[in-house]
Amino acid sequence: MKIIDIIKSKKPVLGFEIFPPKQNTPIETIYNSLEKFKALNPDYISVTYGAGGSTKRNTIDVASKIKSEYGIESMAHFTCVCHQEEEIDNLLEIMSEEGLENILALRGDPPRDKPDYDFTGCAYRYASDLVRHIHSKNKFCIAAAAYTEGHVESARILDDIKHLKIKVDHGVDFLITQLFFDNRLYFDFVERISDHGISCPVMPGIMPVFAADQIKTMCLRSGCSIPAKLVLLMDKYSGNPDDMLKAGIEYAAEQISELIENGAPGIHLYTMNRPVSTRKILRAANLLS
Ligand code: FAD
Repeated sequence: MKIIDIIKSKKPVLGFEIFPPKQNTPIETIYNSLEKFKALNPDYISVTYGAGGSTKRNTIDVASKIKSEYGIESMAHFTCVCHQEEEIDNLLEIMSEEGLENILALRGDPPRDKPDYDFTGCAYRYASDLVRHIHSKNKFCIAAAAYTEGHVESARILDDIKHLKIKVDHGVDFLITQLFFDNRLYFDFVERISDHGISCPVMPGIMPVFAADQIKTMCLRSGCSIPAKLVLLMDKYSGNPDDMLKAGIEYAAEQISELIENGAPGIHLYTMNRPVSTRKILRAANLLS
């Protein structure tokens, strides 16, 4: 089923994001977690694509298993980085043959060993070019990334919104935001992009604070801000990972409850492949029956 049809028919929609095992790790390691995620009744599970396409077959294999063996709708992330058109078309063909109907179309980040990567060598320079190509196949529901604080490379937030409008107009069905820790950023963003003619659903991406250092690294890379309230929590529990984890679970649950109460279509939860903590968050947010 296309995820946009789920979004149109129920509220709140619960989406989980997982990452496939690294290249030298057996793919089976993810399946134990999937059994546990299934018990939480997600509406869909999305599977990330390693930087530079490093997990491309794993991404499709895991997304395919989620759908065929676990009976959960899945979405494969897909990036432009390092891909030529023929390769992209082959992967789209495989997805189609495997019955995969949902794609998160991204530009991607440069491969880790090539921080100055030149995107002009790829078939598609921006995610909007990839969206247009996938949309032309007329087969897939297409999601794309959105940035409540502007993408880190954009000189101005307004520039990013103008680029987002181009991307959506090329065939995006719904958007998923990058992590944010202050819900006002999400509410203002939805209103702001609506003023610029973007009216598709925007799923808020929630990243729980499972470990303070990990969040700091992510925020450094992505340019996301950390509100003072969260900085204080991180300081309070520095040196006490168990209490940080508990506080992080509570923080995420509060964010989720407030977003849903105030009209968000659902939640896209960055689970970090942690079903036990994910369960605790959903329970605290009253999203588990
Ligand atoms: P784009 O939409 O192409 O934007 C990239 C930059 O280019 C922005 O600054 C934008 O303003 C600018 N831009 C866009 N169009 C134009 C134009 N026409 N002219 C000039 N500038 C323009 N990465 C992975 O590698 N694998 C994943 O699985 C993955 N999953 C993600 C899931 C979510 C929900 C999110 C939010 C991000 C994910 N990412 C993933 C990260 C993403 O690949 C990076 O944030 C990347 O830097 C930008 O991707 P994009 O699709 O937003 O790019």
